[in-house]
Amino acid sequence: MKSNIDKAEADITTHYKNPYEIVQELLQESIQTLGLNENIYHILKKPMRVLEVSIPIRLDNGRIHNFTGYRSQHLDILGPTKGGIRFHPDVNMDEVKALSIWMSLKSAILDLPLGGGKGGIIVDPSALSKRELETLSRAYIEKITPIIGPQKDIPAPDMNTSPEVMGWMIDEYDKLRGYNIPGMLTGKPVIIGGSQGRLAATGRGVAITIQEAANVLGMEMNGATAALQGFGNVGSMTAKFLHDLGVKITGITNAHGGIFDQDGLDIPDLLEFVKKGNRIHTYPKAAPLTNEDLFGLPVDILIPAAVENQITKNTAPAIQAKIVAEAANGPTTPQGDEIMEQKDIFVIPDILCNAGGVTVSYFEWVQNAMNYYWKEEEVNQKLTEKMTAGFQQVLAIREQKQMRMRQAAYTAGIRHIVKALHARGWIENEKMLEG
Ligand code: GLU
Repeated sequence: MKSNIDKAEADITTHYKNPYEIVQELLQESIQTLGLNENIYHILKKPMRVLEVSIPIRLDNGRIHNFTGYRSQHLDILGPTKGGIRFHPDVNMDEVKALSIWMSLKSAILDLPLGGGKGGIIVDPSALSKRELETLSRAYIEKITPIIGPQKDIPAPDMNTSPEVMGWMIDEYDKLRGYNIPGMLTGKPVIIGGSQGRLAATGRGVAITIQEAANVLGMEMNGATAALQGFGNVGSMTAKFLHDLGVKITGITNAHGGIFDQDGLDIPDLLEFVKKGNRIHTYPKAAPLTNEDLFGLPVDILIPAAVENQITKNTAPAIQAKIVAEAANGPTTPQGDEIMEQKDIFVIPDILCNAGGVTVSYFEWVQNAMNYYWKEEEVNQKLTEKMTAGFQQVLAIREQKQMRMRQAAYTAGIRHIVKALHARGWIENEKMLEG
């Protein structure tokens, strides 16, 4: 039988599992620390609009399965709301609400004229056939059509959604509206208006912020070591860019298992292996690695690039890395964060670290509006400028206010949104508009 303490501890853990509560707490803390009016918290704490849809689909076996989907739109005072759509069995309304708030903060830090949005469907996409997945993707877009559009809310890929899925979705939307509207979503295949560089953008942005953090700590990237959780689009691209910079990635895990090589995994070979449809834990040229062991590896850089709530009171104590780069959204619980603070780990918070994806999505939307397209070098150059400026802005706040990077990132995002609230007359005489 469990003691009361165990039970209380378990309750706390469960309590903090909810990312919506975590983001609200972080917002409230930042607003208080900055001495801002609590009205600002009351404006920011909830999304302005959340839609839940039921999506009945005929499966290949003839049965109807009724899926549940969501779309959350946080705040549109800086521009249309924007953010991805995820397909995952753990999707729920609170998660998409939290993710849409994080999107608002990301766009604000990077000075993008956008608000935050996010959507998702409760589904395990690996359990569906391609036809079922296409039907589900098209039906979801049909259900959320009334609230999306290039000037309203612009979807994009997220966990388990790809350019192919975006292709089905935009095709459905165009059919429903009766004409070609390329700016209604981003992350499309390049041939139908996608941007060069979008697929690699989040990983490229993660690598840029790690390089910036290494500069702050006086760490040489060439020869540094890293461990990575997650090898989807973001994780694999991050691995590629870090490898190009001379970083030795010794451990990688995902939901199925993991691999380890003390001398550094052969990332180009591993990328080829995965491209052929293989799972990383079956890669023959490395030793096995568990997810628990990944966090304690003796590396310079740790990159959670999978799901929420991975750096917790259980995993954080083992971390040896000097830099933790949050490529995933919400990978750290408040307790995990406290432990990293005590250990003086340099954390690149998610709302800064993984903002490269939405940044190139913004470039895609701009190119769609012009109907004129940039070369990949131009996109990458613009991305580097945005990510570096965002990082430097957060770093300056950290130094000026003697804060942790996460608090500095929230400050940067909130400050930008506060200026817009002020400009629209929602709040008056608000301090802290400088900077
Ligand atoms: N899903 C990505 C994110 O979480 C990208 C969103 C977008 O491109 O709009 O930032």
